[in-house]
Amino acid sequence: MTPDLAAPPAPADPALAALATLAAPGEPSPDVPSTMDALWMPFTANRAFKRAPRLLVAAEGMHYTAADGRRILDAVAGLWCVNAGHGRRPIVEAIQRQAARLDFAPPFQMGHPAAFALAERVAALAPAGLDRVFFGNSGSEAVDTALKIALAYHHARGEPGRTRFVGRERGYHGVGFGGLAIGGIPANRRQFGAGLAGCDHLPHTHDLARNAFSQGQPAHGAELADALEEIVARHGAETIAAVVVEPVAGSTGVLLPPVGYLERLRALCDRHGLLLVFDEVITGFGRVGAPFATRRFGVTPDLLTVAKGLTNGAVPMGATLVRREIHDTVVQGAADGIELFHGYTYSAHPLACAAGLATLALYEEEGLLTRARAMEPLWSEALHGLRGLPHVIDVRAMGLVGAVELAPRDGRVGARAFEAFTRCFAEGVLVRQTGDVIALSPPLIVEESHVAQLVETLARVLRALA
Ligand code: PLP
Repeated sequence: MTPDLAAPPAPADPALAALATLAAPGEPSPDVPSTMDALWMPFTANRAFKRAPRLLVAAEGMHYTAADGRRILDAVAGLWCVNAGHGRRPIVEAIQRQAARLDFAPPFQMGHPAAFALAERVAALAPAGLDRVFFGNSGSEAVDTALKIALAYHHARGEPGRTRFVGRERGYHGVGFGGLAIGGIPANRRQFGAGLAGCDHLPHTHDLARNAFSQGQPAHGAELADALEEIVARHGAETIAAVVVEPVAGSTGVLLPPVGYLERLRALCDRHGLLLVFDEVITGFGRVGAPFATRRFGVTPDLLTVAKGLTNGAVPMGATLVRREIHDTVVQGAADGIELFHGYTYSAHPLACAAGLATLALYEEEGLLTRARAMEPLWSEALHGLRGLPHVIDVRAMGLVGAVELAPRDGRVGARAFEAFTRCFAEGVLVRQTGDVIALSPPLIVEESHVAQLVETLARVLRALA
């Protein structure tokens, strides 16, 4: 715990008391759970994890503390979210103050000041016109909200037949039924039946044959956006509500958009009256060197989803940014009363709003929304320096996001990168594995020495891998 925060007396309940003692950085934790059976962990190989757990007990700045007391360099900002680094005092204190003052306020037919203040702050960072903000609690909810607003908009305009969506292969938009349907990762859908009907997918843009080891955006692949024409021809534009893509596909392994691709998608959406949604849950808040990727690429969507970095990961929150005309069509066009029948008990939760306001202030104060651009040459050069090491078949980097793609083992997709992930953790660096990609996205406060430690560790691990 940060020393100058007031430390309350340890609670009597042993689990709560453990929370008070777990946080000493750099020391083994006395409170490793005696059983792990009850917790069903998300997106985790539960059985393997519980045989050999990887436990984190504290965090500060660029580092986690593992249960055995080791300092672990965080090369993934937690899960792409802790952009300002861990345990930042202004954020911690804002949450504490808010919890003591207003722990909860109902978001339906009631409001509280921090919600309005945060919406203004978020809107001010977005491209002009994208300035209406709907809050939820996660990226998945932000995406489902975007889909519903797209439908409500067309409904209000008198085109209720526009109900189809277009996503993209390898897209990740969270785990709600909407996000799953437009997402393009088959494993995420396999266990869950038919899902939401009426979704098509553009081809993904990953093309190692033409683009491996590109510096920055790959040169080839803008024409892949033209697949939208075929989808429109198949179903008719008048049946399609929106196209949803990540400007940089993150969870699927950091796929940068080919030069001209996003521009082409924008033009096609305009031609056919389709809304364009950018899912910036990962790219939002400085990851690619601008407040949002839309500003870096100069292509403006109609709706934009964020989460993660919005509160520095400290309190769950997501948001859907909406072009004003879309908002006005739905809101001004409605009869008196509730205009959009949608919302969450924890929309604009006071603690999340407090965390968000403190986070955005910190980003601004420390120049973190653009720092990744300044770090990009160093970052990119360091990662591309891994080219030529065993198994490395591609390196991708932009802003402070990057990927090292490995050749898969025969018949065991993901096994080699998973072993790299566990070995890196054993050597004191937290990376992320997705398929055979090692994905990297350090907190935006990362320094040259951290980058050096990361690539040295990765190089050592790659040389040791079978
Ligand atoms: N959209 C994108 C682009 C994401 O990367 C993620 C999560 O990684 C989500 C949506 C889902 O966010 P959450 O896990 O907060 O629901």
